Order: sequence, then structure tokens, then C-alpha cells
Amino acid sequence: MAIELYFAMMALIVASVVFWVWLLPKWRLQRAIKMPFPDEWEKTLSRNNTAYQRLSPAQQSELQHLIKIFLHNKHFVGCDGLVISDEIRLTVAAEACLLLLNRVTSVYGKLRYIYVYPSPYVAPHQELGEGGVVSHQMQGRAGESWQSDKVVLAWDEALHGVRNFDDGRNLILHEFAHQLDQESGSANGAPLMEKASSYRSWARVLSQEYETLQEDMVRGHSTLLDHYGATNPAEFFAVVTETFYEQPEQMAQQHPALFKQLVGYYKVDPREWQ
Ligand SMILES: [Zn+2]
Repeated sequence: MAIELYFAMMALIVASVVFWVWLLPKWRLQRAIKMPFPDEWEKTLSRNNTAYQRLSPAQQSELQHLIKIFLHNKHFVGCDGLVISDEIRLTVAAEACLLLLNRVTSVYGKLRYIYVYPSPYVAPHQELGEGGVVSHQMQGRAGESWQSDKVVLAWDEALHGVRNFDDGRNLILHEFAHQLDQESGSANGAPLMEKASSYRSWARVLSQEYETLQEDMVRGHSTLLDHYGATNPAEFFAVVTETFYEQPEQMAQQHPALFKQLVGYYKVDPREWQ
């Protein structure tokens, strides 16, 4: 009898763990996905997200699906007194999910928190100098992407980037490109690819373009790609993502090989939205 009771208790514990850890979260997510996309949300996107307005109805519908998953799984935290509104949540979610259209995705599966400041903020910064000496200083920032589980954004800069979708500068696209890059385990400009065979051409084209940008910067040449992309390969990937979505015609003309790699990775051609 005692053994029967023991097994009954064990079965009950296993069943409750399965329910709370697996079934209930899954059921809640499905319920969130099935909810109709509110008209107010649609109005907010139409007002703020220039890219959303240019998508086909099928793409808008796919983006809405991704937004629901994103908003269900991520927690927004207001910093320096900023109150998180539906407008902030939606605007960030829509722009972040633009990078996921047409792709197999976990919708930034590792990301849990999005910290939003009203405007650029100051954060402690460590720099490794000559002789291995580490210097500590405060640095002004508009955004950050952490490999662990968080993204940090300055709301005014984020909104400016979303509303001005043709100047090649977009903070949300930049930081969430870093998130995609970090999914591979390190931020190195080589995000996860569907096919292992894609890495060779990706590495060849991007490293060539990266070196060219570094040379152009040293010579003081003006370039379509922001010189900030010459900082390191991770920043290069984030910067070319911004240009790819916001200035695709120019990129296709001036950097055709790079453009082709990005079409292959992102599985969209933003020239259709111009
Ligand atoms: Zn960056």
C-alpha cells in the first residue's frame, strides 16, 4: 500500500510539473496568438512604423502573428521614470519582428527583457588599453544588446529610426540584428544560418566588404554604410542590416554581393517596400 501511495504521489508531481512548466505556458501562448489584433494596435503601427505601412497584406498578417508572440514572451521595463505604454511595446515589437519575416524563428527565444530609457543614457564602460590596462569610464549610449537576455533602447532614438525609414539609421533594427548575431553563441557578424554551406560565401563577402569600409574610413571617403560598421564584424553586421532595410536600392547598386547575401539571410527584398 505504501509503495502504491508513493507511485501515486510521484505521478501527481510529474503531472503537475508538466502542467505548470509546459502545458499551461503553451496554452497561454496559443490563447494570445488566437486573440484578434486590436484596431488600436493597427493604428499605432500605421502611425509609427513606416515599414509596416509598406508591407503587403500577407506580410502585415505574418508580422502581427510575430508581434503577438513577441509581446507575450518579453517583459518591458521603463527606466529613468519612463512609463511603458502600448505604443512603446508595439512599436519596438513590430520593428524587431520585421527582421523575422519569412524565416524559421524562435522569435528571439533567449531574450526576456527590453529596458527602455526616455532618451540616450549614461552607462559604465570598461576599455582594455595598451599593456592590458583596463580603464573605467562613463559612456553615453542609445542602445545595447546583451547576449544573456536583454536589449536596452533609448525611446526617442528608437522612434526616430522607425518613423524615418529611408535614412539608413534605425536603432531597433541595429540592436535586434545584434540579437540575431548573438544566437550563434558569440557576436561576430556570423549569425545562425539554415544551411552550413552558406557560411563560406557569407564570410568571404562580408569580410571583404568590412575591410573595404575600414579602408574607406581611414582615407576619409564618404560611404553608404555608416563608418561605425568598421568598428568590428558584429557592428558591421548590425550596420549593414540597417542599410539593407532602409536603403536597399542604393545597397543593391553599390554593394551587389553584400545585398545578395543579406537577401539570402533575411529572406526578403526590401526594394519591394520602397
Ligand atoms: Zn551595435
